[in-house]
Amino acid sequence: MAERSKRCVSCNKEITNDTGSVEFKCPGCNKQVIIRCSQCKKLATKYKCKECGFSGPN
Ligand SMILES: [Zn+2]
Ligand SMILES: [Zn+2]
Repeated sequence: MAERSKRCVSCNKEITNDTGSVEFKCPGCNKQVIIRCSQCKKLATKYKCKECGFSGPN
């Protein structure tokens, strides 16, 4: 059985070894956990919550 890996919601990259990654609850629905890797955070890549459709750079 594979370990459940955390992935960036924007680029789908595994953030297992990414110390600059962030994890936070969606500001829109406060349910879905948004995970972003350091790269997407730095570039302000857009993310979208699959729960409520909220999107934004922050
Ligand atoms: Zn990313
Ligand atoms: Zn949401």
